Amino acid sequence: MTGLSADSVAAAAARGALAAAVALVALLTRRPVVGAVLLLAAVGVGVGGNAARVDHECMARERLPFRCRPRYEPPALLAPWRDHAAEAIDRYFAGDAGLVRALLIADTKDLDPEIRDRYAAAGIVHMLSISGLHVAIVSGAMLLLLQAARLPAAAARWAGLSLVLLYVLIIGAPPPAVRSAVMIGARAVSLALQRNTSPWAALAWGGGIPLLYQPRTAVDLGWQLSVSGFAALIAGRDVAERVLPRSLDGWRRKIASELTVSVVASFATAPLVAWHFGRVSLVAPFANIAAGPVIAVLQPTLFLGLALAWWPAAASLVAAASYPMVRAFDLVALAGASVPWATLHAAPSLLTAVALGVACVAVLAACVSHFWERPALLALAAVTTAAFAPAPSSTVVEVHMIDVGQGDAIAVRTPRGRWVLFDAGRGDAKRDAGRSTIVPYLRSRGGALALLVITHADADHAGGAATVLSSMRPPAMTEPGFASGTDTYARALATARQLHTAWRRARAGDVIVVDGVTLRVLAPDSAWMAAQQNPNSACVVVRLEYGGATMLLTGDADAAEERWLLDRSPALLGADLLKVSHHGSASGTSVEFLEAVAPRAALVSVAARNVYGHPIPAVMRRLIEHGATVLRTDQLGTIVARTDGAGWTLEVAGVRWRLR
Ligand SMILES: [Zn+2]
Repeated sequence: MTGLSADSVAAAAARGALAAAVALVALLTRRPVVGAVLLLAAVGVGVGGNAARVDHECMARERLPFRCRPRYEPPALLAPWRDHAAEAIDRYFAGDAGLVRALLIADTKDLDPEIRDRYAAAGIVHMLSISGLHVAIVSGAMLLLLQAARLPAAAARWAGLSLVLLYVLIIGAPPPAVRSAVMIGARAVSLALQRNTSPWAALAWGGGIPLLYQPRTAVDLGWQLSVSGFAALIAGRDVAERVLPRSLDGWRRKIASELTVSVVASFATAPLVAWHFGRVSLVAPFANIAAGPVIAVLQPTLFLGLALAWWPAAASLVAAASYPMVRAFDLVALAGASVPWATLHAAPSLLTAVALGVACVAVLAACVSHFWERPALLALAAVTTAAFAPAPSSTVVEVHMIDVGQGDAIAVRTPRGRWVLFDAGRGDAKRDAGRSTIVPYLRSRGGALALLVITHADADHAGGAATVLSSMRPPAMTEPGFASGTDTYARALATARQLHTAWRRARAGDVIVVDGVTLRVLAPDSAWMAAQQNPNSACVVVRLEYGGATMLLTGDADAAEERWLLDRSPALLGADLLKVSHHGSASGTSVEFLEAVAPRAALVSVAARNVYGHPIPAVMRRLIEHGATVLRTDQLGTIVARTDGAGWTLEVAGVRWRLR
């Protein structure tokens, strides 16, 4: 490869960020605002570097994308301390350990993707990945405690600062925490010197210092959110002070001011969240206000639990006391995420991302400047550019293998933004994947459900179908019509009849075209089905075709049905992507079948630690030996595959890479 490779772009990004940091430190004493603007530019450079690096590394190795995600690594000296803290958290906060680790020591690697998804939808994901805010809260709580202990104000300040520094070191000095600690230090120093320090200067120092000792911090999402979020906080307070009428006072003023700050902060971080999580939350300002007081009490409590880790009885007591607060925090995320149209699906192109980045900086400038017209005009122009930029997804088909635990739910999004859903997950008296997962997932992304396909009657495929039918009202459904079925299947059929949904038995040879996407039904046919006892042998098998791109959807098809397909239509089995049948069970995915399909990627929908022992290691090995990249929902959460009719791009947890 000649010229500027993606890797050197990443290196250049890190160097650019370092240069920006040095420049801003030089500028600091005279022009703090310039320093802060440079810092925000470094955020932009870091995001660019991040994108180039992820894509390059994943394309080169085509391994699991999580390896490619740049993550902050603590300096070797601090790593053991951080490990000790992590162990203590696991010991006392068992069920919530993942969440508490994120909140206390900025360690998000064991965080359930579903939880992170929920917080992103509610617009409060920064509360999970930034410990900057948390350090500030802990510091405030310690200050109150020290003052209550009758320590003189100055002594309390210095003692508090020392404790905060100790805390930041113990948790491995993640960049957002360093940012916060430096800013708290700057405030203590300026109070001691009785000099007024601009908050922009404090931000420039706080954001710049982590870059100096680890330049690649610029590509860390936590650092990016922390810096842009705090810049928005300063700008939001400034504009609230100027814009809110004087007549507004007391708690009303407080709430109005918090809401202003929250709106500015949500706006300033929206392009970052859209880039990393593929969505923009519209409920974010409200969710932030609701979550704020909860986290203000929860955070010091969790910290107390960690500080008392050496005294098991006390630590357990504190952990138990924090339980209702953790639930309340989670409830805010849950409520925010379940509001219809709470989030806009966004897949920003480079152009729109840059335009929105410019708009953000311009809005912040308009907030703090008395001459707000020009930056406001620039912001408007940038937003207009973003809005009218050619939509990148207009010719793209997406396949979403939604993580529904043990079961299947595969949603195909057409170029016109409509959906075809293959199966609706598990459903029984206690849990209904249709209600809890699938309907919110489709609703949050918008677009009508054009067709529901039920591959067979088992409860882990037809379970959520009744809910999906009554909530999304698709005009048509198709299924094998295999006599004898589960209760949930009967309920789905009854619901379809009630709603006058057009019903059609799926038959081999059917070709359904939805918005240019061809769905070719390969199985079953009625003669074959009549001889079967097992519903798995009569699964609907569909080949999705769009341009030259293909995917085979197999439901829970077993070896008998695979044999039948090999005899009947061997030429139609070849596909780029394979939905591995029966959650990776040994009953399907025979060697002959796999040789006919020859997939480059194999997608497995399966729950972690399920009672069936799915997926079978031998089947996984077989897929890999046949050259397929294996992606499993139990390991990766929801998997998204996109195609423009030529190649495929895969996406997991916001990380995208091209399938080769
Ligand atoms: Zn199944």
